[in-house]
This record gives sequence, C-alpha cells and structure tokens, in this order.
Amino acid sequence: MGIRVKQWISDMPEYIPGRTIDEIKKEYNLEKVYKLASNENLYGPDPVVIEEIYNNLKDIRYYPDSQCRELKQKISEKCGIDINSIIIGNGTDQIIEMICDSFIEQGMNIVISDPTFLIYERSTLKCNGKVIKVPLREFRQDAEGLVASVNDKTRLLFLTNPHNPTGTNVDHGQFEYIIKNIRSDILLVVDEAYGEYMSEEDKVDTVGYLSRYKNIIILRTFSKIYGLAGLRIGYGIADRGVISTLDRVRLPFNVNFIAQKAAAKALENESYANNTRDKVRGEKDKYYRVLAENSIEFIKSHANFILIKTGTRSDEIIEKLLKRGFIVRPGKNIGLPGYIRVTIALPDVNDKFLANFIEIFSSSC
Ligand SMILES: *Cc1c(COP(=O)(O)O)cnc(C)c1O
Repeated sequence: MGIRVKQWISDMPEYIPGRTIDEIKKEYNLEKVYKLASNENLYGPDPVVIEEIYNNLKDIRYYPDSQCRELKQKISEKCGIDINSIIIGNGTDQIIEMICDSFIEQGMNIVISDPTFLIYERSTLKCNGKVIKVPLREFRQDAEGLVASVNDKTRLLFLTNPHNPTGTNVDHGQFEYIIKNIRSDILLVVDEAYGEYMSEEDKVDTVGYLSRYKNIIILRTFSKIYGLAGLRIGYGIADRGVISTLDRVRLPFNVNFIAQKAAAKALENESYANNTRDKVRGEKDKYYRVLAENSIEFIKSHANFILIKTGTRSDEIIEKLLKRGFIVRPGKNIGLPGYIRVTIALPDVNDKFLANFIEIFSSSC
C-alpha cells in the first residue's frame, strides 16, 4: 500500500520553477544572460549591508535570536509602532503561509484578485481552503468587486499594493472603501512588497489605519528594494492580537542570523533605498518614452517592473529575447497572455534590452 497523502495536497497544482541563468546560458550557448523575470533589485544591496554580512559570518555557529529583537527594534522606530505588533518571516512568503495556517481551514475561503501573486492561493489550498477570484478591471484591483465577493466563509482578503503582476496601485479611495466595507472578522492582508517604490503621494498610510482597525496586516519585504532576495527575510505589522496568533505557528528559528543582521543594517541607511527608487523611476520613464515612440503599448507601473503588450506573437518574441540573453516573465504564465513582464535593470542593460526588444518586435516573422 502506498503512502497516503492528504487529498487536498495531492490536488494542488505543481509549482513550475523559472529557468536559471545557468540553464539558459547552456541551452542557448550564451556568455551573458540578463534575468529580468523576478523583479529583484538589480542595483543590489547597500555595500554597507554586504560588509555587515561578512563581519557576522564568524557567529553562524550560534542559533539566531528567535525573537529577532534587534531588527524589530529598528522596524518599530522606523514605523512608529510597538514591537509586539511586528512579525518577521523567512521572506514575506512565509508570513503569508503563517496567516493561512492560522486562519484557514476546510470550508473557509480567501478573496483575491485574478491574476495576482501566486503564493496567496497556494498557501490557502495547502490549508484545504477555497479561493474566490475577482478579475482585475483595466489591470487594476477591483475594490467594489472584491468587497462584493466576500461571503460568510471568508476569512482573508488580499490586496497587493502596488500590484504584481501589473504594477498598478490601490489608491486612497479604494483602500478606504475596502476597509470600511468588509466585516471586522475578515483580516485584510495588504502586501506592500513593492511599496517603497511608490511616490509619497501615492502611498496609502496603512500603518496609520492600524490605530482604527484591528483587522489589517501589512506585509513588507527586504527582497525587493533592499536587494536581499537571496537571504529570505520580510516582516508583517498588525494588531498585537493578530501577531501573537501568528507567533503560535511560527517556527522558533524561522529567520536566519545573517538575514537578521543584514536587514537591521539595511534599515539604518534608508537613503540607499530611496536612491534606488529614484534611479528606477528615471529608468521607467525611459521605458515609457522609448516604448511610446515605437507605438508599443504598456501599463504604467508603481513598482520596478513593467508590463509590455506583445500580442499574439508573444511566444516568438520571448524565444527571440532568450536567444539574445534576456529572460522575461511570459504573461501567459502569470495570467496575462499577450504581455511580458520585465524587471527594470541598470541603465546600460535597459538600453540593451529596449534596443533588442524593439528590433525583434518591429521585425515581421
Ligand atoms: C516578491 C513578492 C513578495 C516577497 O516575497 P519574499 O518572500 O519576501 O521574497 C511578496 N509579495 C509579492 C506580491 C511579491 O511580488
């Protein structure tokens, strides 16, 4: 008799990993490959953070601080919130998982946009929960549609601001509408993975809402603007009651020592992140300009990536880009057929990409 797997686990779709730089190099016989598919910060982390990592390597013989006290202190000062309102995860992904582990069981559901970040659905299916999907409207999350789709079995509603994969934002009015119109027993999860890339005027003061609403959790990460995706560390901010619930399912040593040190250091010098934000904004403007000059459609983005319309020739264009060493995310893999999602890179790489893309796009097949 075979090993018996939980039915809902064997029903889960398999995760299809993206191809690595090394695989592409081999397959296409390339010297240089540019991975523009996963929205990493290609400007890299602050050199001071790298130095901090080196300086702490000798202490990896010890277990990390299970409470991440030093990092929580820094976040508490930065955000003006109590230390007991913070949870640290092995990436924001893990906090999403802890949220579903804590609040979702058989018969319960979450409400999400379609398409959206894949982890919300996966973490829910793992808990035998159901997923209610609300289509985007004009590439934006549909505040009214999301609220209208909630039912008495709904436990969580996910918002992503800015959205992935579209880069569009949730504006002040939409946020206000959602938090005012959902029941107080539904936890609103606001994923701000790319929040630091937004302009100050566009940012919703989600932390400010916490003083009035106990049913919000804000998720942020060191993977994106801080350039530490490989270390796996992110944080959540919520009412202390929510945090103490998540702490019950959290593994004591979920965040490694080096990641804690690096993240704490990264917060000491916010000007480095702000500088990345400004550079990316400048490069995005270049993308908009060049694409518009060539009559290529795109979606304006609040994050460090951009959706470009490739139409019916998408597969061919993606393949030709790969042959020239550019890995982009095919829209059909993220619910947006006819588009590609491209991470904004360093200026010279952006120039190379745009020149190659336009040549491929403009040539008939
Ligand atoms: C990248 C990303 C995250 C962050 O994931 P980590 O686990 O912190 O690396 C979370 N949400 C969205 C929408 C993302 O794109």
